[in-house]
Amino acid sequence: MPDCIFCKIVAKELPCYKIYEDDDFLAFLDIQPIAKGHTLIISKKHYNTFSETPVELLSKMIQIVHKIGQAVQKSTNADGFNIGLNNGSAAGQLIMHTHFHIIPRFNDDGLHTWPSIECSEEEFKKINQDIKNNI
Ligand code: 5GP
Ligand code: ZN
Repeated sequence: MPDCIFCKIVAKELPCYKIYEDDDFLAFLDIQPIAKGHTLIISKKHYNTFSETPVELLSKMIQIVHKIGQAVQKSTNADGFNIGLNNGSAAGQLIMHTHFHIIPRFNDDGLHTWPSIECSEEEFKKINQDIKNNI
């Protein structure tokens, strides 16, 4: 096992505010929440990133994300929630153990959406084709 904080939480070597546990997954509160109820969902088995996680496991995981998302929204009276996943350090992933974030959102929470960039017709066409070619 790598020296991983989330693996230590799974092994109960570190504490957490546990929300849900089954044979494969664990959900617990983020220790530095963006909003009250900010929850993390991890697989018990260590995979560094989303890209490296078997798709069969992710399919099961998204069902847990759906279930816990409803509970988080209900408990916080949120107007909605973000499901987040940082895939790789360039994307902001700090803990290299695949995890989804559920972040309660409120109509007036003042959190802004992501910035957008200019993209020409030519650039749209090129990236559209490049992505299709890589599927
Ligand atoms: P990432 O940037 O990797 O997607 O997010 C990692 C998240 O894990 C951060 O939101 C951070 O607050 C949370 N985190 C880091 N260390 C701990 C910890 O020891 N316990 C809990 N519950 N959350 C943690
Ligand atoms: Zn781990």
